[in-house]
Amino acid sequence: MIWLALALIAAALLFLWLSNRQRSQAGLPAGRISYSDVGQWQPNQQALYDPKLGLAGKPDYLVYVNGTPVPVEIKSGRTPDAPYDSHILQLAAYCYLVEATTGQTPPHGLLSYPRETFEVDYTPELREELFTLVEAIRAETRRRTPPERSHANPRRCSGCGYRAVCDQQLKL
Ligand code: SF4
Repeated sequence: MIWLALALIAAALLFLWLSNRQRSQAGLPAGRISYSDVGQWQPNQQALYDPKLGLAGKPDYLVYVNGTPVPVEIKSGRTPDAPYDSHILQLAAYCYLVEATTGQTPPHGLLSYPRETFEVDYTPELREELFTLVEAIRAETRRRTPPERSHANPRRCSGCGYRAVCDQQLKL
């Protein structure tokens, strides 16, 4: 259980660290506004798992584009001008999981914020960025101690899903 908590914290901190990186440095696709028909989105009940990467995840919805499943992730809160890097990487993980479990490669994924939905291309470069992140998380979990907090923003901690197990959280 402690190991799991450490792994979760490591994943959270790494996602936050990655979200701090400049987009140009990370090489992540910017995403573009999508006008997909919301009615075609099918709620996804099934967790996807890839034993090769040891990665599991459950996209909120799947929409079929020319017969290929495309993952959709719903985000609450403020709608950004462009998707957050951490959200893009989460979506990349879902695209990879769809690819690994169905043998079909999604051309893109969808990030849906309250006011806008963004289409993010699932490129080979994005897949590589995901692999780099997974390897970094593995390296951190092997250390069995959480990495240092990468920011000084209490608001991030107040909205973080890992604050219950994180001893580095900042109070508002
Ligand atoms: S509670 Fe704060 S420091 Fe801890 S993982 Fe979340 S954002 Fe990072």
